[in-house]
Amino acid sequence: STPNPIERRIGDTPKGGSVLGFYAPRGTPRPPRIARGEGVFLWDSEGRRYLDATAGAVVANIGHGNPHVLAAMAEQAGRVTFAYPRFFESEHSIALADRVCALAGEGFDRAFFVSGGSEANESALKLARQYAVVSGQPQRAKVISREPSYHGATLGALAVTGDAHTLGIYGPMVRAMPKVPAPQSYRLPEGHTAESHALACADALEDSIVREGPDSVLAFILEPVGGLSSGAVVSPAAYYRRVREICDRHGVLLIYDEIMSGAGRTGAFLAAHHFADARPDIVTLAKGLAAGYTPLGAMLVPNRIVDAIADAGGFVHGHTYFTNPLSCAVANAVLDEVVRQDLAAQSRLRGEQLMARLQAIAGRSPIVGDVRGKGLLTAIEIVADKETKRQLPAAFNAPARLTQHGLQRGIALYNRRANLGAYGDMQLITPPLTITEAEVDLLAELLEASLRDLAQEIAR
Ligand code: PLP
Repeated sequence: STPNPIERRIGDTPKGGSVLGFYAPRGTPRPPRIARGEGVFLWDSEGRRYLDATAGAVVANIGHGNPHVLAAMAEQAGRVTFAYPRFFESEHSIALADRVCALAGEGFDRAFFVSGGSEANESALKLARQYAVVSGQPQRAKVISREPSYHGATLGALAVTGDAHTLGIYGPMVRAMPKVPAPQSYRLPEGHTAESHALACADALEDSIVREGPDSVLAFILEPVGGLSSGAVVSPAAYYRRVREICDRHGVLLIYDEIMSGAGRTGAFLAAHHFADARPDIVTLAKGLAAGYTPLGAMLVPNRIVDAIADAGGFVHGHTYFTNPLSCAVANAVLDEVVRQDLAAQSRLRGEQLMARLQAIAGRSPIVGDVRGKGLLTAIEIVADKETKRQLPAAFNAPARLTQHGLQRGIALYNRRANLGAYGDMQLITPPLTITEAEVDLLAELLEASLRDLAQEIAR
């Protein structure tokens, strides 16, 4: 007989539920079951080993199973895992805010801790808006962003995400926000250099501000190095400088979404640090901040914004898991490792080695059209024809097929086909920053074998 639902236990019910996955159309093979992880490797329940070539979703920056972090986690879990932050502050959140702001550098005084990237961006959009309201500019509410871009899955973050496919479904539920082109680096428009094209994209921002009415524009948000959207596109320094100048000219706040590019991933604590004149007003972080040991995101802001709203009731926004003491303790331990192992420097060093290996693969492979990135935030672009840069049909779904070949070869490759093919089939290559020289070589071998399998499948 069917047990009373109240008495059901996992495993002993004749009919229970099952996990709802995402981005998994009918017929998608079930992924292997994860059993354990150590360093850059993961093992499934059948004992098969996978090199984690994208650090999960560009998260596991310090690798899996780090003993220092696990000890800090156990220690904090033994003390207290939750205390509502409006009633209690925690030594770990105080220390973490201090350290993260110091690493982010001048202009960042306060850290707001949330559970992940989308929440961090929601926080940035809402803080910017509240700042405009208390500064006597309540008409400023539009946030300009780039096409393509990815800023998160929640409805506010989606409103500024440049992804026609997703907005085709959820667009009517959000306020349409203006979009400007994100610079490309592979398919440059006729007659342009990388720099002249990027500057034209920056000028498109100014045109958009003027068209919308400068007094109505609140902020501009961008990923300084493209992530899932455009695949590790790095723009010339002049682009970041001009964007800053334009925002200054029109009183528009500049938000850098460093959820993927931050925490050392590109070879500096923030990608913004590579570009002297970038100077964002607000930065968001997640992913590598707690490196997958606990969920954590952050928004970093200057005192001048926070002070302006302090007398207006403070920030009118928060979540239950805001400043979670366990997540903050874990992130402090992760930061210990980032600093002790100088992982930003490691990212530069191993990034150079990886880039050379990827370029060599591109030279041999008939389907790798481009290699790009900064530090260990790199990507390859898969094409049907390297001469013409022609893409494979979207229905073929080359990245999903590459993932399957990778799993057979023992390499875990995370991707999300960029905007259903409109911007190319790219594959991020973003291993943990702790990857060794020999492991980069192994990654390159396994990737090349998987690409060979894919090329054979395409040729059939
Ligand atoms: N912003 C960027 C640049 C991202 O890459 C992501 C996630 O991939 C997000 C925001 C959203 O973060 P989360 O998935 O933690 O909500």
